[in-house]
Amino acid sequence: MTATPTFRQDLTDPDRAYELDRAHVFHSWSAQAQLDPMVVTKADGSYLWDRHGNRLLDFTSQLVFTNLGHQHPRVVAAIREQAATLCTVAPAYVNGARSEAARLIASHTPGDLNRVFFTNGGADANEHAIRMARLHTGKHKVLSTYRSYHGGTQLAINVTGDPRRWPNDNGSTGNVHFFGPFLYRSPFNATTEEEECQRALAHLEQVIALEGASTIAAIILESIPGTAGIMVPPPGYLAGVRELCDRYGIVLIADEVMAGFGRTGRWFAIEHADVVPDLITFAKGVNSGYVPLGGVAISEAIYSTFADRAYPGGLTYSGHPLACAAAVATIEAMEDEGVVEHAAALGEQVFGPGLRALAEKHEWIGEVRGVGAFWAVELVSDRATKEPLAPYGGSSPEMAALTKACVGGGMLPFVNFNRIHTVPPLTTSFAEAREGLAVLDRALTEVAGA
Ligand code: PLP
Repeated sequence: MTATPTFRQDLTDPDRAYELDRAHVFHSWSAQAQLDPMVVTKADGSYLWDRHGNRLLDFTSQLVFTNLGHQHPRVVAAIREQAATLCTVAPAYVNGARSEAARLIASHTPGDLNRVFFTNGGADANEHAIRMARLHTGKHKVLSTYRSYHGGTQLAINVTGDPRRWPNDNGSTGNVHFFGPFLYRSPFNATTEEEECQRALAHLEQVIALEGASTIAAIILESIPGTAGIMVPPPGYLAGVRELCDRYGIVLIADEVMAGFGRTGRWFAIEHADVVPDLITFAKGVNSGYVPLGGVAISEAIYSTFADRAYPGGLTYSGHPLACAAAVATIEAMEDEGVVEHAAALGEQVFGPGLRALAEKHEWIGEVRGVGAFWAVELVSDRATKEPLAPYGGSSPEMAALTKACVGGGMLPFVNFNRIHTVPPLTTSFAEAREGLAVLDRALTEVAGA
């Protein structure tokens, strides 16, 4: 007797997968009819393969989430083992994987952020963090920066500061945007990091005063803004924001959905500034994105607000055992394999010097910036005017050609407007990282030369 196959159809047939995708799958953020998505048939470590058999170095970590690379054996085994034991259980029950994931996360969060509310991803983590801040303070407004991304749900997209907000910017109240520091394109005409820091803080204090401190529940910011351009804040900025929050009774929410879990060479990016926020939101790297998971790490003071008063929020899959088992295995692997230290070394020894060398060589590079495995290459058509190689919120033939040349050269780049981000798995070896930079070098030579 032959065993019944798991699926009726061959799910590994790439051509069938492509046809069905085009017939039935509605994709994120896209004009559907214009899409020609890549079929990924296989992935391993820092590489993935398309349906034509091309091997690509994944310099994107997908959407900056496969921090441990593809198919990490410990995480795959954890999901298998948990599935064999208990696939799922409702949030109200205790589950070993969830309890241990919460303990491990709390062991790495700064300060007294020792309680974890689990969500399905980053956007809902931010929604819940803001809800907690509003109930804790009894205030309503939320301040967030331009050049930020906080998620695709209604409130999260409204506090977002990138063009994805524009068509969704309705139906919410009390979301106020301010300018964060960004020396290369300083909104304050600053010429030094110190000036940028001081002026950005003065600007924020003025926004607080003019909006009314008595109305502001929270300031939410990415500790290091990610998709918006990996702008590492100048020394003192985050400490200054913390001080303003303390002075005006405002909850500080650090969105670490992209920058957290080792990406910057620290467990959380806010550690670079030695600042403890009131809430940290996380997702992506917490379990390398193998199963959807996000959450909010909560300070003792905010926890106390809900100690004897029900928290009015929840999700069917809060703390899903498969996702939490993947988180336990991910965090343990990161600890055991020195992944965070390796990410820091990648930045110091390969990406920092390597990208600065590319900037010396290629006129199109206006600036490189970043830390750990979290770097942006800002491309400009004119170094003096800093004219971006693609407009804010758009693309250009040059950026499209660069993307194509990178893929043709065997490296999948993370491209946003006029920037290429080098954000590979934290487990990427030095040799692989150098290989990716060499592809970028050749792509720049080829396209700029043309
Ligand atoms: N916050 C940040 C900083 C992000 O980068 C993202 C996603 O890229 C989100 C929130 C939203 O996370 P999710 O897509 O899991 O909802």
